[in-house]
Amino acid sequence: MPEGPEVHREADKIRNAIGEQSPIYLYFYHDHLKPFERDLTGKQVQNVEAYGKGLVISFEEDFHIYSHNQLYGKWFIKPAGEYPKTNRELRLEIRTDRNSALLYSASEIDVMDSVSLHEHPYLSKLGPDLLKGVDPETIAERSLDDQFRRKSFASLLLDQGFLSGVGNYLRTEILYDARIHPKMRPMDLSDEAVDKFSKSALTITGRSYQTGGLTTPDDLAIKLKSEGKMRRDYRHFLFGRDGKPCHICGENIQKTRMSGRRIYICDSCQKQYD
Ligand SMILES: [Zn+2]
Repeated sequence: MPEGPEVHREADKIRNAIGEQSPIYLYFYHDHLKPFERDLTGKQVQNVEAYGKGLVISFEEDFHIYSHNQLYGKWFIKPAGEYPKTNRELRLEIRTDRNSALLYSASEIDVMDSVSLHEHPYLSKLGPDLLKGVDPETIAERSLDDQFRRKSFASLLLDQGFLSGVGNYLRTEILYDARIHPKMRPMDLSDEAVDKFSKSALTITGRSYQTGGLTTPDDLAIKLKSEGKMRRDYRHFLFGRDGKPCHICGENIQKTRMSGRRIYICDSCQKQYD
């Protein structure tokens, strides 16, 4: 499933294609959304924004298309009126006189006004978005809040109400960067370690957004590339690299499951303590 950085990049792509333009044609697959094809034609696209793993395209006169791609949804941008070669089913098309933004196979699409958007069951529960200018102090305070401090980082980082947009690969990579064992809880950490966690959460998520999916720093990625390593080996510190050596200490990386999802740990870099 795409995580925050991927959804933010998707929002950028859609904004570049249809932002500040007025659609000349819209298509909704779902019958109950058909009436909006007429309502939205000619209304200017004012904003395209990622919310956690969801996306909101806002039009003038308070119309907002909310979509959540779940596992299978995929956006394509094409010149106006053209379609990609795909066996997926088209669920939404927004066509301006320049471009078509096309959403295929998404499992959740809705059109709302700002009041319903505000009360939306998914959107209204989202914690701060790491790609929207939240500061490290806010993340540290939040980690030590009563509702979060007793939970393991492994479970917290999948909770969209704690920090939004973090998913499975970011969970592994943030905890590695902060040298925190996933079973640790915020209440187990020193103030310095909580600060380090906050900074790692911002750094790793921001880096993945900037680079299109890399969580390792430039100098390390360049060094590994020069040694002939493939992208799957230099892209992440640990994620997807079970049985291979940690880039920093050389210890074999372990794969396990926590909170129902796979997670990777370097036992030597991420010590668990009482
Ligand atoms: Zn290590």
